Amino acid sequence: MTRRTYENSEIRVQWDSDFCIHTGMCIRFGDGVFDSSRRPWVELDRADVDTIVSAIEACPTGALRYERMDGNPGEVAPRTTTIVPFPNGPLFVRGEVEVRDRDGEIFVASPRVALCRCGHSQNQPFCDLSHRDSGFRDHAAAPAQNREDAMSPDDISPENL
Ligand code: SF4
Repeated sequence: MTRRTYENSEIRVQWDSDFCIHTGMCIRFGDGVFDSSRRPWVELDRADVDTIVSAIEACPTGALRYERMDGNPGEVAPRTTTIVPFPNGPLFVRGEVEVRDRDGEIFVASPRVALCRCGHSQNQPFCDLSHRDSGFRDHAAAPAQNREDAMSPDDISPENL
C-alpha cells in the first residue's frame, strides 16, 4: 500500500494506491496536474484549485481525496447514493459510503468507492482490476441511461479498466 500527500496553500490531496485502478479520470480532467509518467505524478501548481477538485471528484474509486486549505468547503457526497455497474467491471458507488467490517467497524468512509463485482479481487470488497484477468462478463447490465447518470463508459479507457 502506498499513500501519498500533496499540498499547497489551497489544497491538500491524498492518493491511496489500494483504491487506484488507473481509470485515468484524474489525468483526463486535471489539466496536467496528474501525470502517471512523471515523478512526482501530482504537481498541484499546474492548475487552479477548482480544476484539481473537479478532477479528484471525477475519480470513481476514492483513491484521490482532498481537503481545502483555503477555507472553502470540501467534497459533499450526493444526497442520493448511486450504484452504477461499469460494463464488465466494478460497481461505482457514490454517496455517503461507509464500508464496515464484520464487527460493524468502519474501515473506509468515502464519497466514492469501486466495489468488486467479479469476486476475484484480492482487495475485497474493492475492485483491483481482477475482472480483466478473470474474464468477467456481465450479462445483465443496468440500462445505459442509469450508467450515464454517474459516468459514461466512454469516459474511461477500456484498456485501463
Ligand atoms: S482517477 Fe482515481 S482511480 Fe483513476 S487513475 Fe486517477 S487516482 Fe487512480
